[in-house]
Amino acid sequence: MRIDVLTLFPEMCEGVFSTSILGKARDKGIVSLNAVNFRDFSGNKHNTVDDTPYGGGGGMVLKPDPIFAAVEHVLGIPPVTAESLKEDNSVVEEEARVKPRIILMCPQGKTYNQKIAEELAKEQHLIFICGHYEGYDERIREHLVTDELSIGDYVLTGGELPALTVIDSVVRLQPGALGNETSAITDSFSTGLLEYPHYTRPAEFRGWKVPDMLLSGHHANIELWRREQALQRTLERRPDLLETAELTAKDQKTLEALKQREQA
Ligand code: SAM
Repeated sequence: MRIDVLTLFPEMCEGVFSTSILGKARDKGIVSLNAVNFRDFSGNKHNTVDDTPYGGGGGMVLKPDPIFAAVEHVLGIPPVTAESLKEDNSVVEEEARVKPRIILMCPQGKTYNQKIAEELAKEQHLIFICGHYEGYDERIREHLVTDELSIGDYVLTGGELPALTVIDSVVRLQPGALGNETSAITDSFSTGLLEYPHYTRPAEFRGWKVPDMLLSGHHANIELWRREQALQRTLERRPDLLETAELTAKDQKTLEALKQREQA
């Protein structure tokens, strides 16, 4: 997998790219992670990438030319224009062949979740565009990107932290990215539920004991206990997830019992 991040602050990305799971995945050759400064594609001697909005108002708007040029550089294709799209389909065909996902980070995008992470993890090439200032020239949205993603209903200063959040969650899903000590399979949301509680040594800490079941050594019963705990936790904290989670008849029965216990 190849990931390119178009940003005005590549140094923000480099730290994350070289640390922990992402750093190891990069070293193992599982993923290629590149930060590209789109100021290098400003095309003007003052290296300007933003301008005042047409129609007036506060804030600066990211110009389309540096962003288009940076994406075309990453893809190694000639500039795409409205005219070239009309006249020459070869550019479109070339783009269709490579099929990178070009993702605009913005609060107005689709809200990111584990399902989207799993979908993006199957792609070969992702390009993230990190905004800054008031916003983007709308032509970037209309004619360049394939996706718009938000990490939640709040506004950050720039798109770097949101893009890195998405990248971290996608890279850890790549085969071989996580060591044996960690597993993405039972993570919260991967199963459609929140994860069951974990305990480690000591068996008793300041008078608080680890549940007897986990010390029993009976693996089948431990699995049943964990499933019930995951169902209970999800019921208490995120009942909305139960509407879409894949539940067995036994899960449904357990949930009914948990609900009755709650009401009693
Ligand atoms: N004026 C914009 C609006 O109201 O939608 C907000 C711009 S914000 C100050 C600057 C940049 O930060 C955005 O272009 C985007 O790249 C990034 N950003 C901020 N909040 C975000 C979020 N919740 N999810 C994804 N990106 C976000």
